Amino acid sequence: MKMPVPDRGVIDRKAAIVAGLRRIVPGAGVIDAPEELRAYECDALAAYRCPPLAVVLPSTTEEVSAVLRFLHGQGVPVVPRGSGTSLAGGALPTADSVILGVSRMTRVLEVDLADRIIRVESGRTNLSVSGAVEADGFFYAPDPSSQLACAIAGNVAMNSGGAHCLKYGVTTNNLLGVTMVLMDGTVVTLGGGHMDAGGLDLLGVVCGSEGQLGVVTEATLRILPKPEGARPVLIAFGSNEVAGACVSDIIRAGVLPVAIEFMDRPCIEACEAFAKAGYPDCEALLIVEVEGSEAEIDHQIGLIRQIAGRHAPLEFRESRSADEAARIWLGRKSAFGAMGRIADYICLDGTIPVSELPRVLAGIADLSAKYGLKVANVFHAGDGNMHPLILFDANDPADLDRAERLGADILTLCVQAGGCLTGEHGVGVEKRDLMGVQFAPADMEAQMAVKDVFDPSWLLNPAKVFPLDVSAARRRGADAA
Ligand SMILES: Cc1cc2nc3c(=O)[nH]c(=O)nc-3n(C[C@H](O)[C@H](O)[C@H](O)COP(=O)(O)OP(=O)(O)OC[C@H]3O[C@@H](n4cnc5c(N)ncnc54)[C@H](O)[C@@H]3O)c2cc1C
Repeated sequence: MKMPVPDRGVIDRKAAIVAGLRRIVPGAGVIDAPEELRAYECDALAAYRCPPLAVVLPSTTEEVSAVLRFLHGQGVPVVPRGSGTSLAGGALPTADSVILGVSRMTRVLEVDLADRIIRVESGRTNLSVSGAVEADGFFYAPDPSSQLACAIAGNVAMNSGGAHCLKYGVTTNNLLGVTMVLMDGTVVTLGGGHMDAGGLDLLGVVCGSEGQLGVVTEATLRILPKPEGARPVLIAFGSNEVAGACVSDIIRAGVLPVAIEFMDRPCIEACEAFAKAGYPDCEALLIVEVEGSEAEIDHQIGLIRQIAGRHAPLEFRESRSADEAARIWLGRKSAFGAMGRIADYICLDGTIPVSELPRVLAGIADLSAKYGLKVANVFHAGDGNMHPLILFDANDPADLDRAERLGADILTLCVQAGGCLTGEHGVGVEKRDLMGVQFAPADMEAQMAVKDVFDPSWLLNPAKVFPLDVSAARRRGADAA
């Protein structure tokens, strides 16, 4: 078969862009070889792939600014990238775009224990932020399960959460300021080392904006003293709905655990086969973690035991040692890897009011039967952040299509239950075409008007978040300007 020969003009343009980037970021910081670009053709939503035109890895805010100014002048789209763990295709390139990765920007710039802040370059991984202050008895609270790999850049862009966000909030509740570079190279500082910067809350706008508004290069984060102690309990139930009702009752009673995690039978079985954590034979289990002094922990666990007792649990297992606590968390923490061993999956991310958990779990089971595809549930139940995993065969395009339609129906169910399309993974390309399920045309118009202000040329992170038909006129207008 004859390979298509790229147009001479396309080759020349790529060469000119790469040469321009190399003038700003020397050495191995610019990647253009096709085999090396393969590493950047997708993020963790690996069903979608497209190699970019080139990749640039600057080391400083000044380099980021110069790169963006150059690419803006050339009219080249830019995809900001942290560690590429997005489950929504947020860091997926287009063929004509340059990926701007911040993975070389990992320095700790400032630690102020008295004011409880840390300022880091945005390529630093989530876990290593806590690592930098651990010896002083502090930690950074948002804890995505991907925290070993994901970068603060991606956490800010996706407003990421994690198991312990029930008590401490998600990224936006722990982010005090950013340095961000606009598409034309302008460097702006939003917020700072304090809780409220005054003026318009542009930091709030940027957190969760999915790389649509600028490239974040530094972040000032709130750090907290480590709690005196923490203890998880494991509670097993005979059905998903009863486990869901128990979560709802714990929240209603005003108990505030740091985490309430939910796993259903398909997930429990996969985790047991993989991690052998000793989970009981049951339809659903909850892991509820509380923290504080020994007395506070005992008190809270007493209340949770009482509430769970009303739902006839099959087992209430309290950890009595660090080893037992680690075993309770072991299965949950290996859930995604364990599921990946048995099937391809799409990980959804809808959020619902906690009181709707029993009804939505029953609805997901009905939809799973309707489409003939297995769904495993593992999620942050305490704040209603669902992660149904749809199992399918990636080698069968018809199966992928069915899985995507099932996913759309499940997320629509979440919105109908009073929830929203995403809790922490963002919209990306995955949920772009579902935005109309949650937002009225005027709502989307208001959001796009914000992008107009920050990125009038619409070059940043193209083809994400806004449905293509809804944003078409704006993108054409930007091209014509
Ligand atoms: C196994 C697994 C478990 C996960 N668990 C969780 C979880 O518990 N909670 C959770 O919230 N998420 C979770 N995620 C999703 C993912 O890890 C988060 O969305 C994370 O914040 C992405 O960070 P990243 O550095 O990998 O970003 P990337 O994937 O590189 O990018 C994500 C988005 O951020 C934008 N972006 C990247 N860098 C910048 C920048 N410098 N400036 C502006 N925008 C930028 C990108 O354009 C893209 O839109 C999980 C993912 C995996 C694979």
